[in-house]
Amino acid sequence: MSRLVCEKCGTSDIVFQINFHYIIGLIFYSFKNERVHFRCEKHKGIQAGWFEIVICLFLGWWAPHAFLWNIEALSSNFRGGIIVDARVSSVAEIQSLIEVLGVKEMRTIEKTILAILEYRDKAIEPLIEALGTHKDSQVRLYSAYILGEFESSLAKEGLKKIGLKDKDSEVRKQVIKSLTFKKE
Ligand SMILES: [Zn+2]
Repeated sequence: MSRLVCEKCGTSDIVFQINFHYIIGLIFYSFKNERVHFRCEKHKGIQAGWFEIVICLFLGWWAPHAFLWNIEALSSNFRGGIIVDARVSSVAEIQSLIEVLGVKEMRTIEKTILAILEYRDKAIEPLIEALGTHKDSQVRLYSAYILGEFESSLAKEGLKKIGLKDKDSEVRKQVIKSLTFKKE
């Protein structure tokens, strides 16, 4: 799946695909089409479809059935277009998986760890973030554990700079294990 980003700001956590219709109606010529926009939560809404709205307002009225299409198109455009799809970036997916590390069931935790490892290097930054900020010490502990699986200086640095300062001694113990873990 290709990476989708907001056409306005380039973020990719949640990207909505929004369709705006535009109508051209000029006596003997009427035309109905749509344009596709990809927008984040912050940049979706009417602003995404200003161009289609302008076309409808100026060109959409001047043929009998275009007139009716135009009313329909404008009403959906003024409501922010039609959201036909929403995609979540891999970072947001990893963040949701990290949340699961807080459950009690060991089997679920094991499966989740494997799922996170499948994201390879992409998982490192979300894991460091969780290690530094997550309220649940169990989530921080498993984040430290997973970071230990990476042969990466970024992961090691995160463990040292953030993990060693953890207020929970169990988390710190895991951080030390992760830092000294050697793959043969
Ligand atoms: Zn945006």
